[in-house]
Amino acid sequence: MKNKFKEVAKVILIIIFLTTTIKAQEITIANWYENKSGAVVLSFDDWLPSHANIVVNQLENHQLPATFFVTIQNTKYQKNAFIIMRKAFANGCEIANHTLTHPDLTAIDIEKAKNEILGARKILMDSIPGNPCLSFSFPMGVKNNDLIQFLKIYHINARGINAPNENNLNYNFIKQANDYYKLETVRIWRVVTPKKVGNWLDYVTKGGGLLTFMIHSIENENNPAGWDPIPEKYLSEILDTVKAHQNQLWITTMAKATQYHQQKNNTQIKIIKNSNSSTKFKIIYTLNATMFNHDLTILLSKEKEIKAIKIGKNNIVFKEIGNHYQFNIPYNAQKVEIIYKN
Ligand SMILES: [Zn+2]
Repeated sequence: MKNKFKEVAKVILIIIFLTTTIKAQEITIANWYENKSGAVVLSFDDWLPSHANIVVNQLENHQLPATFFVTIQNTKYQKNAFIIMRKAFANGCEIANHTLTHPDLTAIDIEKAKNEILGARKILMDSIPGNPCLSFSFPMGVKNNDLIQFLKIYHINARGINAPNENNLNYNFIKQANDYYKLETVRIWRVVTPKKVGNWLDYVTKGGGLLTFMIHSIENENNPAGWDPIPEKYLSEILDTVKAHQNQLWITTMAKATQYHQQKNNTQIKIIKNSNSSTKFKIIYTLNATMFNHDLTILLSKEKEIKAIKIGKNNIVFKEIGNHYQFNIPYNAQKVEIIYKN
């Protein structure tokens, strides 16, 4: 009887020990980079003259990134188009693929369509050193399954022109892999005021998903109205509005948002060592690192006080926010060690 009591006590002690150690192991990948509530992408389509003359500078003044979907044909009538694209790229903007000549890709021969896609991609990669050219936008939003399958070889997403439902901007917006090639967008045109843009930002903050905006040309006293124009004053106010949401939302590019979302959903964390003084975990990746190489934000519940976080011999910067610790790891980090205070 006495022995049995001892056995039970032992089991209880083991359970208590396990529960406390398991509690210390709550390590997760944040839904979005820097644990922001949602992701927002400003996209400018077609590489219109006002993109080079106005938008690149406005973005730089506001210190905001954006994705430019470039139609190569339009660069022929502009001076210094690629020099300005290189400047935008250096400022953190994405220079992405919108074909050579902007055709309806479903109405032409598939080989011609492939040439429209790969030809533009090659020019954008050759003209902008380091440009991975991972994002695509369908001319006029027209797509089919053959095109999506082809795009998957070199592009990690594609955007159409369909508008999203404001109540459906949640994190699980991808039901199957093809959905990354059917991204929706809110068109900003004359009647869409900066206030309406602010409403959309509130919807995505609440929903937690990805919101993309599509903008065409910008007009001012020196730049005549091009295709689907909004005044420069509007653009500036919209950028101010977006900027004001930067604490809650990740303002980023199409490639970065879709890299992170896919990496988060295809990466596992495995604890390999756990003691009172430290926890070591391994990161298991399943995606191709040449296309999916965004840093990940790790969240750790604040069960114990942390002294240091290390990858190999290097210390990782961490922040204490509310009831968790937060830190970023490079996409190729293999093992991470968390060292606790005594
Ligand atoms: Zn277009």
